[in-house]
Amino acid sequence: MQLQENAVQPRDDKAFMAKANDVALKSNCIRRAVGAVIVRQGVVIAVGWNGVSESHEDCRDAGCPRCINGGETGSGYETCICIHAEQSAIADAARRGACTQDSTMYVNLRPCLQCLAIAIASGVREVFYAGEDWYYSEEIEKVYRTLSQQFDCFSRVAEQQGAESQAS
Ligand SMILES: [Zn+2]
Ligand SMILES: [Zn+2]
Repeated sequence: MQLQENAVQPRDDKAFMAKANDVALKSNCIRRAVGAVIVRQGVVIAVGWNGVSESHEDCRDAGCPRCINGGETGSGYETCICIHAEQSAIADAARRGACTQDSTMYVNLRPCLQCLAIAIASGVREVFYAGEDWYYSEEIEKVYRTLSQQFDCFSRVAEQQGAESQAS
């Protein structure tokens, strides 16, 4: 799959990914820390991290059924109360009235199927991700490819050193 790169100005994908890694530190999910950054016209317009409301210490404290039982990446989301970093970034933009049309998203984990659908609906045109390689079953990966191909660009960027956050 060859995706087209249509940027004309120099861009700093690594710096934006580093920012996503920074933002991930705010996560209060006990499983993993994910951060997302939305960039439009070269400027960060919104950030998000996964987890629950700040009124809880973490998602265990909030009673997340999935995270407490150590849910596998890519499944069991119907019993998870942790918002995903990508969703949180889009919500952040919505709350502050920042337009996400024709934007670029950086996230330090390969997005899930739902986040791809939401990003497409929000006008995100490019997605760059990093972190652990994880996949759905081959059948669902086919659908994943159908969604990811709707972006102008959907690709993994080189890992920042030592920035990876692991579930404990
Ligand atoms: Zn959680
Ligand atoms: Zn997601």
